[in-house]
Amino acid sequence: MKTLSVTKSIPVVGRYDVVVCGGGPSGWVAAVAAAREGKKTALIERFGFLGGATTAGYVIPISGFFKKGVRKVGGIAWEYIERLSAAGGAQVEYPRGHVSVDIEYCKLEVQRMVTEAGVDIYSNSYISGAVRDGRRVSAVYFENKNGTEALEGDYFIDATGDGDLLAAAGIPTTVEEHPQPLSYCFELSGVDVTTPLLRDYIHHDGKVPASEVGVLHEFLKEKHIAGEAPLFGGPWFNTELNGDRLAVNVTRDPASVLDNRAYGAAERKMREDIFRIVELWRENFPEFKNAVVSSTAANAGVREGRHIVGVYRLTGDDVLNTVRFPDTVALTTHIVDIHRTDGGEQRIINFDEAGHIPYRSMISPDCDNVIAAGRMICADEIAHATLRVQACVMAIGEAAGRAAALCVTEGTPVQQLDTAALRNDLIRNGAVL
Ligand SMILES: Cc1cc2nc3c(=O)[nH]c(=O)nc-3n(C[C@H](O)[C@H](O)[C@H](O)COP(=O)(O)OP(=O)(O)OC[C@H]3O[C@@H](n4cnc5c(N)ncnc54)[C@H](O)[C@@H]3O)c2cc1C
Repeated sequence: MKTLSVTKSIPVVGRYDVVVCGGGPSGWVAAVAAAREGKKTALIERFGFLGGATTAGYVIPISGFFKKGVRKVGGIAWEYIERLSAAGGAQVEYPRGHVSVDIEYCKLEVQRMVTEAGVDIYSNSYISGAVRDGRRVSAVYFENKNGTEALEGDYFIDATGDGDLLAAAGIPTTVEEHPQPLSYCFELSGVDVTTPLLRDYIHHDGKVPASEVGVLHEFLKEKHIAGEAPLFGGPWFNTELNGDRLAVNVTRDPASVLDNRAYGAAERKMREDIFRIVELWRENFPEFKNAVVSSTAANAGVREGRHIVGVYRLTGDDVLNTVRFPDTVALTTHIVDIHRTDGGEQRIINFDEAGHIPYRSMISPDCDNVIAAGRMICADEIAHATLRVQACVMAIGEAAGRAAALCVTEGTPVQQLDTAALRNDLIRNGAVL
C-alpha cells in the first residue's frame, strides 16, 4: 500500500499527573478516583458526553453489582447508582441486582461527578497517537475541531475499551480469534408492555428482569432460517425509567471494531436489520402494532476489542474456582455470557462466588506508566465474558485511578506499586474486595 510521511508540530495543551483515555464506565470512574486522590487529572473522550457503552450504546441495565443478593461492588460505582436513584434516574432490581437506568440521567450524573471531582474533560476528541520514550509514554495526542492537540502526563490509563492508547504506544495487545459480536441497540416507542408477552420480561416492571423474550426469539429464529430475518440475538428489552421508551438489544454482527470499513458496513447493515425486525414484530404481534424506532444508539455496541498483554492473564478457571489473589482489586459477579458470532445463541456459565480480578491483569510488563481499565484487561474468553459488565468495569476503573494516583505519589513504575496499599485505599473508599 502507498504510504505518506507527514511531519507536524502538535501543541501541548496541558500537563497532568494522570491522563485517562476514554470516558466509558471504567474511564470516568478512574478519572474521578485519581482526582479525588488529589491528582491533576484529564479525561479524553471522543463523544460530546460521557458514559461509554451505557450512554453511547444504549446498553442497559447496569449489571453485576450483586451475587446471591449480596452487593460485591461498592465505591464510586455504587455512589453513582445512589445518586442516580435519588434523582429518579435508576432503580435497583432485587435480588439479581440489575440496575435499570435512564440513559439521559446517566449522561448528566456522570458529567456532574467528573466535574465535581475537578477533572478536566477533553470531549469530542479522538485519540490518534502517543509518544513513547523507552518504557514510558510521555504524551497522547488527539483530533478535534481545534486540530491535533497533545497532553503530557506522568501516568496514563487506557479505558478506550479497545486498547487504542496501547496500540498507539506500541504496548503489546492480543485480539481473540472470534471476539464477541457487535450489537446495535435502539429505542422503541409505542409498544404495549402491559400484555403477558412482554410484561414479565420488561426489566423494571417485571418478575424476570432483562430475560430474553422466548416467544420473540423463536419467532425470529424461524424467520431467520426461512431467510426472512437477519442474524439476531435475544431479543432483550429494558424500559427506560422515564417515558415509554423501550431499549432493545437484538441485532448482531461478527465484524471487528478494529477493522474500520467492516465496522462501518456492519453498522449500516444492522440499521437495516433494526427496521426489518421491527417491521416483522409490527406485522405479527399486536403489542408492537404502533411501535416506532424512536432512536438508534450513537454507535454499534462493542463487546470485545484488544486486550492488554498483562503481567497476569486472568482465566475462566480462576474466576469459576474463586481463586483469590494477593492483589485482588475488584470482584466480578455476572454470569459468563458469551454471545456467539455465527448464530443467535449464547454460552452461559453460572458461578456461585464472586470472581477476583488482580491488578497484574491491568498492567503490561513492557511499559512503566500505563494502566489498562475496563473490558480490555488481560483475560481469557471466559473471564472476559463476566468481567465486561458495567459494575465490574467501574470497579476496575476505580482501582486503575487509585493505582495511578499512588504511583504518582510514590513515583514508582506501575509494576512496583505497593498493592497492599492500593487495596487499603480501595477498601477505605468503599470497595468490596
Ligand atoms: C450490546 C451490548 C450489550 C451489553 N449488555 C450489558 C448489560 O446488559 N449490562 C451490563 O452491565 N453490561 C452490558 N454490556 C457490557 C458493557 O456495556 C461494556 O463491557 C462496558 O461498557 C465496558 O466499559 P469500558 O469502560 O471498558 O468501555 P466502553 O464502555 O466501550 O467505553 C470506552 C470509552 O472510550 C471512548 N473511546 C474509545 N476509543 C476512543 C478514542 N480513540 N479516543 C477517545 N475516546 C475513545 C468511547 O467513546 C467510550 O466512551 C453490553 C455490551 C454490549 C456491546
